[in-house]
Amino acid sequence: MPEAKVISNLIKETPALLDQMRDQKWHEAQVDPNLDLVTLKHSAINCKACPLYNEATQTVFGEGALDASIMIVGEQPGEEEDRVGRPFVGGAGKLLESQLSKASIKREDIYLTNTVKHFKYKNHDDLRVPITPLGREAHACRPWLEAEIQNVQPKVIIALGVSAATAILGRRPVLVKERGVPLKLNDSERTIIISWDPTAIIRIKNQKTASDKTDDLLSDLKLAKRIIE
Ligand code: URA
Repeated sequence: MPEAKVISNLIKETPALLDQMRDQKWHEAQVDPNLDLVTLKHSAINCKACPLYNEATQTVFGEGALDASIMIVGEQPGEEEDRVGRPFVGGAGKLLESQLSKASIKREDIYLTNTVKHFKYKNHDDLRVPITPLGREAHACRPWLEAEIQNVQPKVIIALGVSAATAILGRRPVLVKERGVPLKLNDSERTIIISWDPTAIIRIKNQKTASDKTDDLLSDLKLAKRIIE
């Protein structure tokens, strides 16, 4: 039975995971939002606010134009981002870049980051399979994102997927209703646009669905571009 190996691994790993949960204090990362992005990125290297640093290769901090009008926030670094140490450089990043280019947005003109700065995964055979971060992991990581937003002061934030949108809005959005609709946060001038997560799009087996969601992503990027112009 193929599941037998997974179950046996889970049983083996459970005591260590329980120890880790007991020993680990869950708290928000201690971040001074007045620090500049270079200093923040350097401080984030040693972040231990949640247990994800234990298994990830490195912290993957945001990158891009320090005064970008558009900030794109994903869920978490993927397998390749974890190895390279930069956001959106793997398959999902390539899909995002192709749509950015169609929307006439240059990657170097925007700021790209993630809700959670460490790759969360489980080992399955020889693969590292991504797992959606828990709400408390996103919560622990939130001060880094907040400091990035404070520094960059983007006019538009594009949140890719539910985790990113939840971190930005402070509530869980209804993606099918709220995707592609410009939203305002409190009385702020900043616009939030929720779109599909390219990591999810590249996993969709049905070609028509994947292509429709890619078109939605492009239309959301074009909307952001119109807002900043
Ligand atoms: N997906 C994300 O949300 N972020 C990355 O950095 C890569 C893929």
